[in-house]
Amino acid sequence: MAEHYDVIIIGTGAGGGTLANTLAPSGKKILLLERGDFLPRERENWDPGEVFINGRYISKDTWYTANGEAFQPQVHYFVGGATKMYGAALYRLRPQDFGELKHVDGVSPAWPLSYDDFEPYYTKAEWLFQVHGNHGEDPIEGHWSKQYPWPAVSHEPRIQELSDNLAAAGYHPFHAPCGILLDEADRPRSTCIRCTWCDGYPCLVHAKSDAETMAVRPVLDMPNVTLKVHSRVVKLETDPSGRTVTGVVVDHDGEQVTYTADIVSLSAGAANSAQILLASANDTHPNGLANGSDQVGRNYMFHNSKAMVALAKEPNDTTFQKTLGVNDFYFGTDGYDYPIGQIQMVGKSNAEAMKGEEPALTKLAPHWSLEDTARHAVDLWLTTEDLPDPNNRVTLDDQGNVQLAYTSNNNEEADRLYHQVKEMLNHVGMADHHVLHKNFYMHMSVPIAGVAHQVGTVRFGHDPGDSVLDEHCKAHELDNLYVVDTSFFPSIGAVNPALTAIANAIRVGEHLLERLG
Ligand SMILES: Cc1cc2nc3c(=O)[nH]c(=O)nc-3n(C[C@H](O)[C@H](O)[C@H](O)COP(=O)(O)OP(=O)(O)OC[C@H]3O[C@@H](n4cnc5c(N)ncnc54)[C@H](O)[C@@H]3O)c2cc1C
Repeated sequence: MAEHYDVIIIGTGAGGGTLANTLAPSGKKILLLERGDFLPRERENWDPGEVFINGRYISKDTWYTANGEAFQPQVHYFVGGATKMYGAALYRLRPQDFGELKHVDGVSPAWPLSYDDFEPYYTKAEWLFQVHGNHGEDPIEGHWSKQYPWPAVSHEPRIQELSDNLAAAGYHPFHAPCGILLDEADRPRSTCIRCTWCDGYPCLVHAKSDAETMAVRPVLDMPNVTLKVHSRVVKLETDPSGRTVTGVVVDHDGEQVTYTADIVSLSAGAANSAQILLASANDTHPNGLANGSDQVGRNYMFHNSKAMVALAKEPNDTTFQKTLGVNDFYFGTDGYDYPIGQIQMVGKSNAEAMKGEEPALTKLAPHWSLEDTARHAVDLWLTTEDLPDPNNRVTLDDQGNVQLAYTSNNNEEADRLYHQVKEMLNHVGMADHHVLHKNFYMHMSVPIAGVAHQVGTVRFGHDPGDSVLDEHCKAHELDNLYVVDTSFFPSIGAVNPALTAIANAIRVGEHLLERLG
């Protein structure tokens, strides 16, 4: 007899972990299914060679391009999902991102809900994930009902200097919102040591606000919550009408077990949630579960981004670099009416990481010269919105593996952003810079392997003809299936996606609490 639960949540990342955290206090019987295990706390967590060159924490999965070329996607299967490795830059989308925005290559569509609908959940998400920031500094942020729980992380001297120089040149730098556990006013109580190993590394001291530490661990001792690791969901079964998920089929290291629940939430990340739906095709859902609209897997987005290293004469001895953002060009520039994107900082360069990022360029460079370059580097991350394109999609090959087709768009906007940043750096005396390969976290054979910001494959909307989920993220075609991860995004905006996924999980969780009574 299958074990029965009130709710089964598949995946423990930003979406699934937060959903579990929201539902757990209700006492409802919850099963969390996670294909990975806890990420080990070990010295290698902060070893750039292990993380960037050997890819120690990247899944061994093989995915395929539209042409059938195999690649290793930058996915992380652990309790906490991709947030174990994320940079914890926890931004809200802008109010305008929820409406229709015209771009050079087309339209970023409106969401079925507005920024006002999301605002209360953004606030709850910022408090759950202990975000540090100063609402009111970023000139284009939306309204906020409550200040961040913690003041912004202070800039280290070199970044403060950069911020001052930018402000003097007429730009509007602001303190970036960071999800870390740090109390600058009371150092002894802080757990974060402000190290350089944050963006792209797991946190050895558990001081990063990831989904494991902030959402999953706090509910694991509750008697109504069960977490099963090494539990890869292979498909969902339905009743003959096709309206109800009646079984969640799990591969536990080779042994198949089926679990049942009143409500099932698929929270496996944008590509894997689409993969599971497509792999669950049956007589009533011949094209994949919930896929009568033929939208499952389509409209995959992951940002049109560039890493950029600005080299200055003075050294940059910053350790925690991700404290500054600039949104002056988010909605365009003088004489160019299309949005062009966002500028933020990334983790500090180091010689080992540079070798992993740019193996061809750095092959002949002596280690000391890379170390010297890294010491002078100020590292920037430029993000332009990419648009939902139905042909950018996840499908399955004949073995059931993920096949990912992607053609970039809004390249003109991304180039404009790059030129604006060049000009901005020239204004502050940092003319010498270099653009790194996009997948700067590790050495990747094809660009689409950098799936860190994957969204959009199971979008929500009012119209069942062109969306998969309704506004509560319930599948239009099923009564008890929800999808709660980044797949629901109808557009991606130009800020990092995790806070929106977290806020949405709280929103859907509160809806489920009402539904479950
Ligand atoms: C290096 C890196 C840096 C990043 N930096 C930032 C940042 O600074 N700010 C930001 O906002 N975002 C950042 N992101 C992106 C952010 O982490 C993701 O947007 C977010 O985690 C997505 O949440 P999710 O719930 O959709 O998926 P995930 O968090 O990936 O969770 C999916 C979970 O499902 C599990 N799973 C997958 N398939 C199955 C299956 N078949 N059965 C059972 N379990 C399954 C996975 O193991 C995982 O635990 C970064 C990502 C990476 C990789």
